Amino acid sequence: MTPAAPRTPVCDRRIPVTSLVVSSVGLAVASYWTLMSPYAQLLGAFPYRRRTTERVVALTFDDGPNDPDTSLLADLLADEGVRATFFAVGACIERHPDTARRLVHDGHVLGSHGYSHQFRRCAGQAVLRAEVARTEDVFTHHLGVRPVLFRPPWLLRTPGLFDVAEERSLQLVSGEFAHVLEVFQPSPERIARRAVAKARPGSILIFHDGFDAKGGDRTNTVLAVGLVIAELRRTGFGFTTVDRLLGIDPYRPPVT
Ligand SMILES: [Zn+2]
Repeated sequence: MTPAAPRTPVCDRRIPVTSLVVSSVGLAVASYWTLMSPYAQLLGAFPYRRRTTERVVALTFDDGPNDPDTSLLADLLADEGVRATFFAVGACIERHPDTARRLVHDGHVLGSHGYSHQFRRCAGQAVLRAEVARTEDVFTHHLGVRPVLFRPPWLLRTPGLFDVAEERSLQLVSGEFAHVLEVFQPSPERIARRAVAKARPGSILIFHDGFDAKGGDRTNTVLAVGLVIAELRRTGFGFTTVDRLLGIDPYRPPVT
C-alpha cells in the first residue's frame, strides 16, 4: 500500500508579511523611478544631459520668478556673462512680469514649468493640458512668445504628459538636482560642492529660484551659483542654455 503524500500545511501557502512589505516597497520604488526620477526614460525621452565632449553645462532654475532672489540671480549672471534657463511658473510670471521680461532681455531662456505648480494638476491629462495652455497664454501676454521647453513640476511624468507634449510641440526637459536638499537651503558651500561634483560635459543642473511657486528665501542658492560658476570655470567649463544644448528653438510665435 502506497503511503499517502503528506498534506501541505495551510500556513505554508500564505504569503509571509515580510514578502508583502518587500513587494510594496519595491513597487513604490519602481513607481517613483518610473514617474519622478530625473533619469528614467521608460515612458519617453526626458533628457537630463546631452552626451558631448564639449565642457559645457546648462544651469537651470525652477519655480520662479521670485523676487528679490530672481533679480539678484539675474544681476549675478549678468556680471558673470552667463546665460541660463529658467523654468518659470505661469502664476509667478503674472506676479513678477517685469522680472520675467528682464530675463529674456538679458539673453536667458524661459521654459514652462506649468501654471500653478500644484501636484494634483499634473497627474490627469485634461488638467495638465489646461495648465500647459494657460501658461502659454501667460507667456504670450507678457513675453510675446510661446515656450517650447517644458519641465513638469516634481519631474512628474505620466503617459498623458507625453501625449500633451506631442500635441503642443513641447520639448520635455529633465536635469540633475544640484543638491537634493537645495530647496531647504543648506549652506551655499554645500550646495555648490554637490553641484560641481555632478557637473559633466553636457549636464543640465537644476536649482530653484523659487519654492513651490510660493516665493521663499533663495539667498543660499544665489550665493551657491556664484561659487559654482567660479569653480566650473576654473576646471574649464563654459555655460549654455538648454535649447542650445539640445539644438532646438526655445520659442514658437504666439497664436494670432
Ligand atoms: Zn518645481
